[in-house]
Amino acid sequence: MKAIMYHYVHPDDSKFPYFRHLHRDDFRAQLDYFSANFDLISNVEFLEAIHSGKPYRDAIILTFDDAFKDHYMYVLPELKQRGLWGIFYIPTGVYATGRLMDVHRIHLLLGKWGGQCISNFLQEMVSDEMLIDNHVEAFRSRTYRAQSNDDYTLHVKRTLNYYIGYAYRGDILNALMERFFPEEKALAGQFYMSEIELRKMQEAGMLIGSHSVNHPVMSKLTCREQKQEIDGSFAFLEQAMGRLSIRTFCYPYGGFHSFTGDTETLLDQAGCLFSFNVEHRDITAEDLINRPQALPRYDCNLFPHGHCRMENNVLIKPQKK
Ligand SMILES: [Zn+2]
Repeated sequence: MKAIMYHYVHPDDSKFPYFRHLHRDDFRAQLDYFSANFDLISNVEFLEAIHSGKPYRDAIILTFDDAFKDHYMYVLPELKQRGLWGIFYIPTGVYATGRLMDVHRIHLLLGKWGGQCISNFLQEMVSDEMLIDNHVEAFRSRTYRAQSNDDYTLHVKRTLNYYIGYAYRGDILNALMERFFPEEKALAGQFYMSEIELRKMQEAGMLIGSHSVNHPVMSKLTCREQKQEIDGSFAFLEQAMGRLSIRTFCYPYGGFHSFTGDTETLLDQAGCLFSFNVEHRDITAEDLINRPQALPRYDCNLFPHGHCRMENNVLIKPQKK
C-alpha cells in the first residue's frame, strides 16, 4: 500500500516563472496512471487497513499538505469527478494570523525571483551568529536530498528552514518580503483554503488532518512546544469542522530528522490514529502495527507525470559561480 504526497497543484502562472508546482494537467495524467496501474482504495478501505494492520496490495491513497487554495480550486473538482478522496493536512495557524506561513513566503520569493537572486540577497543579510551550528551540521546531509533544486535554491531553503535560529528568521523574511514581494498582503487571503472551503472538502468526503499550528520542524521544539503544536491544531480543526471522524497528523517538512520519539508519544496521547512521515517506501503491516505515527509516504515526483515542469527548464539547471 502506498501513500502519495502532493503540495502545489495548479496551472502555470507567468507571474511566477520559477515556481515549483505540479502542473494541473500532470496531476490529471498521474491520476490516470494510478487508476490504470493501482487500486485507488476508498477511505473506508483505508481506515479498515489502519485498524486491522493489514495493508492492501497495490493500493494507493492520496495526501495533500499545507491547505493551499489549489486543493480546493483544482484538486477537489478532479477528485470528485473521479469518485476519489484524499487526506488534506492543514497547518492551522494560518487561520489565526491571516498571514502567509514563512515556509510559503520562501516558495513565493523563489517562485517569483529564482534562487540566485534571493540567495545573493540572503548572503548579505545573514551573519554567522544567526546560524545554529549544530543545526548546520545535523541537517546539511539529511535535507532536500530527493529534490533537484539548483544550488542557490538549496542555499536559501536550508538557511531559512533549518540553519537559522527561529529568533532571526522572522525579521530576515520580513525584510526579504518587503524588498521583493510588496504584494504579500493582497495575496495572503487567497493563498489558503478558507474555513468554509475546509468544511466543503469534508462534506465532499475528504479527510482533514493536522499539520501542526505553525509548521515548525518539530524536532527543534521542546516537548511542551510540540504538545502545543499538536493539541492546538486538533482543537482548531475540531472547532472549525464541527467534528473530525478520526485524528491524523503529518509532520511539517517530514523525514526522520523532523520529529522525535517524543513527538510520536505526544501524538499517541492526543488520540491520533496515524501520522505520515516522508519516507519513500510502501506502508507495511509492520508499520501499521508497530509504528502508526511514522507511516512512510512517497513524493508524487517519484511516479510518472509527477515532476515539476521547472525541472526541465534551463533557467533552474544547477549553475556554478
Ligand atoms: Zn507542509
